[in-house]
Formats: sequence, C-alpha cells, structure tokens
Amino acid sequence: MNMVFKRELFNPQEIKEMYPASNEGLEAKKLNDKEIRDVLRGESDKLILIIGPCSADREDAVLDYIGRLRPVQDKVKDKIVIIPRIYTNKPRTTGAGYKGMLHQPNPVANPDILKGLMSIRRMHVRAMNEFGFSCADEMLYPENHHFLSDLISYVAVGARSVEDQQHRLTASGLDVPVGMKNPTSGDLSVMMNSIRAAQGSHTFIYRNWEVESKGNPYTHAILRGFVDNYGKTHPNYHFEDLIMLSRMYGEATSLQNPAVIVDCNHANSDKKYLEQIRIAKEVLHSTRHSDEVNMLVKGLMIESYIEDGAQSLGGCVYGKSITDPCLGWEKTERLIYEIADLR
Ligand code: PEP
Ligand code: MN
Repeated sequence: MNMVFKRELFNPQEIKEMYPASNEGLEAKKLNDKEIRDVLRGESDKLILIIGPCSADREDAVLDYIGRLRPVQDKVKDKIVIIPRIYTNKPRTTGAGYKGMLHQPNPVANPDILKGLMSIRRMHVRAMNEFGFSCADEMLYPENHHFLSDLISYVAVGARSVEDQQHRLTASGLDVPVGMKNPTSGDLSVMMNSIRAAQGSHTFIYRNWEVESKGNPYTHAILRGFVDNYGKTHPNYHFEDLIMLSRMYGEATSLQNPAVIVDCNHANSDKKYLEQIRIAKEVLHSTRHSDEVNMLVKGLMIESYIEDGAQSLGGCVYGKSITDPCLGWEKTERLIYEIADLR
C-alpha cells in the first residue's frame, strides 16, 4: 500500500472515557432527541433550526457562539428547536484546503488526528454538558461517527457523499435523524434513493465488524441548491421545488416521515450569506401558503457565526468563518426571533 501507518489511535470507547458526557448532558440529549423526532413525525409543529458555523474551527469561539444560542433557544422554545452546528469535518471539492478540526485542530498547523479526535470530542461534550445542546455534525467519514455517537442529535450527509454506499448503510444504523442532502448536481432522485436505502435494514462491515442495521425511519431530505454543467448555481428552495419534492415523496409510498430541511446557504444562496435572511422568510411564506408544503418543511439550516462573512485560512478574526461565509451574531439573533414570529 502506498501509505505510511503512522500510529494507532485510541478506540471510541477510550476517547469517550477521556471526555465523558455528564448525566445532566445525557438527560438534555434525551429531551432534545425526542423533540426533534416529534417534529419529524409530525407530532409537533415546531420548526427545527440547524444553525451555526460552516466549520467549527476553534473551541473558544464555537462555545461562545453556542452559549449565545442558549438564552435565545429558551425564549423561542414553543416555536423552534435549535440544533447547533458543530461541523468538525469539511469535505473539499478538490481535496485541498482545511479539512476540519478532526484533521487540523489548529487550522494553520500540520494535521494531527490524535489531538483532533480529542478536540472534537471535548467541544461536543462541552456544548452538551455546559449548555444542554446535543448538536449536529456532518458524517463525512462514517466509521468516525462512533467517537461522538453519545453526543450528537442530528447527522447530515453532505452533497458530495450522498451517493456513497457506506454513508447510506451507516445512516441506516444510526439512532438519530439523518438528513440526506441533494447532490451538487441537483439530481433529487439520488437524494431520494439515499433516503430509501437508509430507511431500510442492511448487513455490512462497520469498524471491522459484520453488523446488521435496523433501518433509520428518520432519514429525510435536505435541499441545498445545485450547480449545473457550466458551474452556475441554482436554488431549489422555491415553492415549486418544495411541491415537487412533496410529490416525489407522495410517489415513494414506502418512505416514512416525509420531511425536508431547507439549507439557506450553499448553492441556495450562492454563498451570499446575507441572502439567508430572505430565503428563510421565503420558505416560511411557502409553508403558510400551502398545507402540503407546511407538512413537508420541518426545518431550516443556516450558516451563522459571531462575525459576518468569512476570512481566509490563517485570518485571525475571532468568530469569523474560515470556510463558507456566515451570518454574524446580531443578524442571527434578530432572524431567529423573526422566524419565531412568522411561525
Ligand atoms: C456544509 O453544510 O457546510 C456543507 C459542506 O454542505 P454541502 O454538503 O451541502 O456542500
Ligand atoms: Mn458550509
């Protein structure tokens, strides 16, 4: 093989013992999980809001951000279920660039995966133990889910991974909701097939075990916009897109818990992060306009951090994204209250 086996890492159990969740944290997660499932099952008409930085690049700023969300969540708890984004793995279109805190706990230093593993575990543990938030992360490397499986309440499978077999099979064996993004090409049938695969049961290899998954009935869709053959971005959050997705779910009668989360950034905003404000409100308008859309749309995803915009890797503005541009805190707080009012 053309790789150097540098060192063996701790296994998930060992890392979990180093950074354990508190009993209060685990109780909070149980309640969060139930709230989220109730929304996806249609038993609660609250709106899920998956919100936070594109990448969790440093623990102090991410925890500061999550601490700010806590009192806001408490104020809007009758309308909105907030799931903070702590995204510790970043897919890269060409493989080059910052791969997230797992690989680079210090974004400008060389990769250090042992340190990275401990850093991402500590960050998720602190969000739960200190603020009662069990968060969302992207499952970019399915085998790694195990390191955080007691802490995470929502898993996203990204646009570049949604057609991958191991992602689909692993999603079928998770006990938290998994959002399948539409692929970058925008082909919704890929996303629907992924949802179908993850809702079923499978036998496969996971972490060197032969395992049997039970199927995950809370696997659902995320619309994130798409890029055409000429590299141009197109949105897919409009009323017509939502109706179309509802009809696709209507034809896929075996799928349980039809649901979509609309990602307001990425190709939906063309990464013009301020547009997220308008897009979120437009989606809420669509839900008020049609019962069919209202039944399908279970939440929004927003990329948000402390400072507006983004800086290049190595930039040292505290709380400013080093990947996709984000909505800053003041606009974010205002937007959450507006969303609650529109709900
Ligand atoms: C993200 O949510 O930051 C992300 C990388 O999304 P996507 O897979 O839609 O590009
Ligand atoms: Mn992003």
